[in-house]
Amino acid sequence: MILWIAIIVVILIAAGFLLEREIYFYEGVHLGPRVQGWLYDRWAKKYDADKQASQARDAEVIVRPLLDALTGIPAPLVLDVATGTGRFPSALLGEAGFGGHVIALDISRGMLELAAQKLASRRAAVTLMHTASMPLPFPDATFDAVSCFEALEVMPAMEAPLAELYRLLRPGGILVTSRGTEESGRKAKVKSAEQFTALLQKTGFENVEIQKWWKLFDFVRARKPGRLVPAGKRALADALKCPRCGKVEWAGQADGPLRCGACGSEVPVSAEKIVLYPS
Ligand SMILES: [Zn+2]
Repeated sequence: MILWIAIIVVILIAAGFLLEREIYFYEGVHLGPRVQGWLYDRWAKKYDADKQASQARDAEVIVRPLLDALTGIPAPLVLDVATGTGRFPSALLGEAGFGGHVIALDISRGMLELAAQKLASRRAAVTLMHTASMPLPFPDATFDAVSCFEALEVMPAMEAPLAELYRLLRPGGILVTSRGTEESGRKAKVKSAEQFTALLQKTGFENVEIQKWWKLFDFVRARKPGRLVPAGKRALADALKCPRCGKVEWAGQADGPLRCGACGSEVPVSAEKIVLYPS
């Protein structure tokens, strides 16, 4: 009897340890997008407080290098994948030199609701969208720039998401992302600067630059080969594929759901003006 109790206690401790490691260390990456989205919803409130120290330098370290690379593209269309509480759109729209539009995605509605509050005065320049599925619902070569910060390490593998970001960029388009540092402790997920550069090059990117950012992440900028001719697309309706028929043909509506002009399908929009793309 005592032996059985001891065995059960050991099993419970081991399960607790594994679950804690999965949730707090890997941020639920192995539990699927629904559980991961739910975890981020729970963390949303204290998320910004945790990140404050590193956010102080966002304009200088992660926004300026993108704007410099987009010189000559006055109104770029930017996709921000895993936007969280809208950190990157906030920093980008805070810069006088940016006259474009940002489509910001996340798997957590809780995070997006905080982003909606944070970006309330700038909603004309940013679209927030909830989606949990890959591939992302946009045609090839849609965006002038794509960003994805502090997120590749918590995806099941980096290769597929990087290939997807590459697909979505226009020729000559700019990728800005991050590399988890050796100090971040996620050993299984960390790639050395050399490995990360090689992975980006294998994906097709060129001009890969890695710079110090903060303790847990380096800033990374790379380019898709080609000459960047502006997309001239300015809003979600110019870029989003219909979930049913795949066409980019949205009927204009000020508020309420988006309606596909080709097949009549609707994509709901929340009270906070978050587009709820079915996944
Ligand atoms: Zn349709």
